[in-house]
Amino acid sequence: MPIAQNDVVTIHYTLRDDAEKVLDSSASGEPLAYLHGHGNLISGLERELTGKNVGDRLKVRIAPAEGYGEYDQALVQQVPRRALKGIANLTVGMRLQAGTDHGHHTVTVTRIAGDMVTLDGNHPLAGQNLNFEVEITAIRAATEEELAHGHVHVAGGHHH
Ligand code: ZN
Repeated sequence: MPIAQNDVVTIHYTLRDDAEKVLDSSASGEPLAYLHGHGNLISGLERELTGKNVGDRLKVRIAPAEGYGEYDQALVQQVPRRALKGIANLTVGMRLQAGTDHGHHTVTVTRIAGDMVTLDGNHPLAGQNLNFEVEITAIRAATEEELAHGHVHVAGGHHH
């Protein structure tokens, strides 16, 4: 059964950047199960997986536009440290939830200089090519409940 919309697909994957550094991998743990066609994976990877079968191995390179987006300088802002006074032990690399007009999103503290703090709202992998090695280990049809929820339920029924 080739992968199509509304299938639950299980994959092992390794993600590397262009310098061959491993950014993420399922190799040392459980494979990843996701609901195909519901935006649970980055769009470029979903497209590459469509029509593939159990046992297939893929090596694909996803450009930023179909990955975590181009790096957007407009998402970088400087705020005075006092605006963050509720946050203990502010350090570079810390990720914060920021409230905006468009809801909550995550920003990363990228610089602290004197009284000014730089916050970067880009995804940490924005602007990067994503080099995936994927092996498809299982494909099944989703249940009605999974389709209604838009995500996979693991055996046993409980979910996040
Ligand atoms: Zn659910």
